[in-house]
Amino acid sequence: MAYIVALTGGIGSGKSTVADTFARFGATIVDADVIARQVVEPGTTALMAIVQHFGHDILQPDGSLNRSALRQRIFSNPHEKTWLNQLLHPLIHQETQRLLATAQSPYVLWVVPLLVENGLQDRANRVLVIDVDCETQLTRTMIRDGISRQQAMNILSAQASREQRLAIADDVINNSGTAQEIEPSVAALHQRYLELAKSATRQD
Ligand code: ADP
Repeated sequence: MAYIVALTGGIGSGKSTVADTFARFGATIVDADVIARQVVEPGTTALMAIVQHFGHDILQPDGSLNRSALRQRIFSNPHEKTWLNQLLHPLIHQETQRLLATAQSPYVLWVVPLLVENGLQDRANRVLVIDVDCETQLTRTMIRDGISRQQAMNILSAQASREQRLAIADDVINNSGTAQEIEPSVAALHQRYLELAKSATRQD
């Protein structure tokens, strides 16, 4: 099993931007959002179960999952949310473990937006938090997603706070500056993770 570095941060903090930079240095990326989408792709048993449970209205015309319809269905209904989580969490966990176990690199960068919210930090050897001030986070999210300030604020306030994230961080990258400014931090952390992975292997 590779050494696991979890990368997390709030919406618009720069997780994807930082992960892309690590990938350029040669790190293997396992992305929790990608896995969460893959387990409900057309043809999967999970999507069939969702359609059986919620009806065909939960699909887009092309047969893929209508995520916003699903979000609405579970938003105000804790039972439906529990049902969905019980279906998806084991599948996501299984696929994550498979990818982490088969990674052919000394360490894996596991990108998990909701690491703190879902209490997953113990599954990683180390936690890297991407940190920006809330104002920067808000404006970058509004621009990227084309949403209003209020919509961005609603998403932010439903997530863990900056302080909660920083409390579990082993390493922090501050992404309040330009995108170029993160490169030296990523380069240094990449070397550090290679060394940590090497000494972890020696201890096994
Ligand atoms: P996350 O994956 O955490 O939601 P992204 O990496 O998508 O965040 O970054 C949010 C937005 O901000 C994107 O449009 C991205 O291009 C932009 N961005 C990220 N880092 C910087 C930076 N240092 N300076 C300016 N824009 C940035």
